[in-house]
Amino acid sequence: MTTASLSMLFDHWPIGSGAAHGRLTALLRASGAGDAALASDTLGARNRRLIALHDDWVGGAIEAQVACTACATMNSFAVPKDAMRALPPAQDGLVTVPYGGRELAYRVPTMADIEAVGDAADVRLAMLDRCAAGPVRVAAADLDAAALDAIETAFDRADPLASIVVESACSECGVALAASVDLAAFVATDLDRLHAALLRDVDMIASAYGWGESAILALPAERRARYVAMIADRRAAPVARQRVRPL
Ligand SMILES: [Zn+2]
Repeated sequence: MTTASLSMLFDHWPIGSGAAHGRLTALLRASGAGDAALASDTLGARNRRLIALHDDWVGGAIEAQVACTACATMNSFAVPKDAMRALPPAQDGLVTVPYGGRELAYRVPTMADIEAVGDAADVRLAMLDRCAAGPVRVAAADLDAAALDAIETAFDRADPLASIVVESACSECGVALAASVDLAAFVATDLDRLHAALLRDVDMIASAYGWGESAILALPAERRARYVAMIADRRAAPVARQRVRPL
């Protein structure tokens, strides 16, 4: 984690509400990713960028929880960043699935596609219609469930990092669990947490020493933490009363 990146986080991370992907796009753009590249990313490519973003700013594991479908016990797990990084990038070319003796072809959806269909009544169907390619086209609303599943499976195979499912077993009853991870939401939450912690540090150090925000953010993390600890200790210590006399 570089000190410059903390200032960048303060300058470019949109605080508060808003869709995680939109807020993360702002930060990715500030980190140097071009608009055209961001728009043409597949969801898998976007997720790869988000893992790198998390590594750069937050580091460590992404902790998540899933409720057991059988006994409702909350199970904690770490999103497997290493395994995800090792997955291959999206394949080039079209995804094809057989349908009624013919072949349907689709482009692998990009972030531009995802954004374009965001307001559709049925995002999944709208996405298929938008990404349909090749000579044979069937309106997504007319496809049966088996065809829809086949296309989804083909997309997952073509862009392995797009859909993140972590499989585990319930710690209480042992039932197999499959947690679908919305990586953008987790990374955004961790960045919100980091931003809030940095704000508290800046507030504390600035109040105690009068230093400016950028100077405080430029401190090495360890030294910043030591200053915060010292200020907290001093605040907790009882204030000794002194007898004062007029000059
Ligand atoms: Zn269980």
